[in-house]
Amino acid sequence: SVSPTSRMPWVTIDTEALKANWRTLDALSGRARTGAAVKADGYGLGATRVAKALFEAGCRDFFVAWVEEGVSLREGLNAAGYGDARIYVLQGVYLADVPACLAARLIPVLSNLAEIANWCEGLERADARAAAALQFETGMNRLGIDAGELSIVKAAIAGGTLDVRLIMSHLASADEGTVQRKAQHAEFLALTEAFPGIERSLSNSAGSFLGPDFAFDLVRPGIALYGGRAGEPSDGQLKPVATLTAAVLQVRTAKAGEAAGYGAAAKLSRDTRIATVGLGYADGYLRAASGAGVPLRETRPGAMAFVAGHHVPVLGRVSMDLTLLDVTEVPADLVEPGVRAEFFGPNVAIDDVADAAGTIAYELLTGLGRRVARMAV
Ligand code: PLP
Repeated sequence: SVSPTSRMPWVTIDTEALKANWRTLDALSGRARTGAAVKADGYGLGATRVAKALFEAGCRDFFVAWVEEGVSLREGLNAAGYGDARIYVLQGVYLADVPACLAARLIPVLSNLAEIANWCEGLERADARAAAALQFETGMNRLGIDAGELSIVKAAIAGGTLDVRLIMSHLASADEGTVQRKAQHAEFLALTEAFPGIERSLSNSAGSFLGPDFAFDLVRPGIALYGGRAGEPSDGQLKPVATLTAAVLQVRTAKAGEAAGYGAAAKLSRDTRIATVGLGYADGYLRAASGAGVPLRETRPGAMAFVAGHHVPVLGRVSMDLTLLDVTEVPADLVEPGVRAEFFGPNVAIDDVADAAGTIAYELLTGLGRRVARMAV
């Protein structure tokens, strides 16, 4: 990302709030350990930055998607002296990945028989021993070993090369409906009986709020750590972590009857004071958050922002680098070039922005643009 200047958009990351969220989840998980999903560069906030803070709070289990993410996280944590973190790679390994996994002490999550074979062959070629995790399919139909393949897996373990440290599966509907998650829970429980003494992990953030039955030995929250909603039971329990702000570049008053922005989508029914802010969809502030002129606006209001102590609506279409705010209700002397507007953070819930844009907080965080500086506070 670019280094921040006062003109540019940036995201601040409240590492104390991040740690507090981890502690909240850790208290919920009872005797189970609490890990952290830090894939997609720590949900867009910087994997090493996030993992270092969480390590300081007590977290030792980190989940990334790719081997490359794991290698980079290991380097970052090693540089901080946090060498004993466990790093799991969710998307498995190719044979060619095995040496990198070994060098960085990554734990691959193997989700099919081919990956198990790759891992075992890689270990034999390297004459090495290392632990892996296994992911089972229990109802999501995404990644996972089928229950019918259990005997092959057990044979591989009996062969002595495959050392399994963790059995896991993933909930498809942790935060909606109970039927599927109950069925997944039951199937997971049955599967894990075939692996006595091996640690088990099923729950993401929303699963972490489902009580001790879902915690098993290790929970793997992501979005809740970053302050996103994780189903109804999480409401009010999590602190906002990321705050996106950008600077007002210009303020003008347009007359009733005029229009604002692309497509003249915002028709002004009254004289309107408009603050033009330097943030747009190139920064990950979605065009779908527009106040008018995008399809969603027939069914939902646009997003709100917060400037000079006031909540204000986004006006018209979000452009690539600019967004208009209707600041008519804000005292004129409070909004001038250089004043920063908050687009999500403590005053504008990221989930409300996501709702307005017809998406989820995950997409807003992981979609933050490259030129948006990330800064820990
Ligand atoms: N575990 C796995 C396998 C995942 O894919 C994810 C993220 O999608 C998580 C845990 C964390 O999920 P959440 O951010 O919903 O807590």
